[in-house]
Amino acid sequence: MKRFTGQDRAITDGWRPATRAVRGGTARSEWGETSEALFLTSGYSYDRAGDAAARFAGEQVGMTYSRLQNPTVEMLEQRIALLEGAEACRATASGMAAMTAALLCQLSAGDHMVGGRAAFGSCRWLTDTLLPRFGIATTVVDARDPQAFVDACRPETRVFFFETPANPTLDVVDLAAVCGIARDRGITTVVDNAFATPALQRPLEWGADVVAYSATKMMDGQGRVLAGAVCGTQDFIDNTLLPFTRNTGPTLSPFNAWVVLKGLETLDLRIRRQSESALAVGRFLEGRVPRMLHPGLASHPQHALAMRQMAAAGPIFAFEVADRTQAHGLLDALQLIDISNNIGDSRSLMCHPASTTHSGVAEDKRLDMGVTEGLLRLNVGLEDPLDLIDDLDQALRAVGL
Ligand SMILES: *Cc1c(COP(=O)(O)O)cnc(C)c1O
Repeated sequence: MKRFTGQDRAITDGWRPATRAVRGGTARSEWGETSEALFLTSGYSYDRAGDAAARFAGEQVGMTYSRLQNPTVEMLEQRIALLEGAEACRATASGMAAMTAALLCQLSAGDHMVGGRAAFGSCRWLTDTLLPRFGIATTVVDARDPQAFVDACRPETRVFFFETPANPTLDVVDLAAVCGIARDRGITTVVDNAFATPALQRPLEWGADVVAYSATKMMDGQGRVLAGAVCGTQDFIDNTLLPFTRNTGPTLSPFNAWVVLKGLETLDLRIRRQSESALAVGRFLEGRVPRMLHPGLASHPQHALAMRQMAAAGPIFAFEVADRTQAHGLLDALQLIDISNNIGDSRSLMCHPASTTHSGVAEDKRLDMGVTEGLLRLNVGLEDPLDLIDDLDQALRAVGL
């Protein structure tokens, strides 16, 4: 029986997080492989026609088609659910597939959603452009202020959607307060937890209903594949999310699922080391640049809140220089840190959001959410932080800072 323990919640729920990350969800085949098997198959066969009929009727356990189920993808879903402390999880092809599915599966024309102002560019596009096109009204609020959610509520408000910490300004949302406001009104909270991951922050413990991920970021952690995930109650996943994803097909490939399974085994180690390095780099930059946006530093206005709901501040932070010219000049002077708009990688990466990740957001909205022309976002990787500090030091000097 030992080979099935990774999928038995009666056993796995008793495991501590590090054990869950390595063994959660593992289902061994008859070969007894130690590493998870990669099932590259689109279909499944049945011994008898009656078995096929029984599986389609939901009367027999088993897989029917890889848009709906795949053994490797299922191992990942169970592992993420365990790490999150969620009843169930559904993996998707990318983080944006997860966000889109988590919202469209439950919203209909006539409904209203309140969204956080500081958000990943494509998440803002969902809120500002896609949902309204289908008759779903949206209001964007400064999510740092719980009262803003109260003030934006209407009788038809169905969902609150926000990130914390938010991309790229590192706004922190008070999870207990905002989720409490939603609970009192029967509103569903959808939290984009890509920056923190379940290793640092578990929104369900603060009262969130649905947690959605770009697993492309810290979960893969080595810049290899795109992936996403949606976590929630079994009822939400089975009866609200699955009818949407099964029929629209934002399915994760088994290969990508396998890569993320391997990534999760080291998530805790990586994110804690990268968080420590990000603090060291942040302390170096503080005082050297005009403005720091790092929730792990006491200078961040929401530092206390961030430390209350997160185990560490994470590997990503932002800072401001004078303008676009100085920001681009600093990027061009880097010799070690790459110019890249990705985050969550084991390599240190830096980008200028206003001209890349947030260039699709209208300028007035960009400034309103704090994405100024001088803003730079840094993902601190697994390199020695002293080498990163040396690189930043020479690049800052090159632009006169
Ligand atoms: C990257 C990111 C996404 C989108 O994820 P993809 O995997 O790139 O589709 C969504 N939200 C946040 C906060 C992100 O950082």
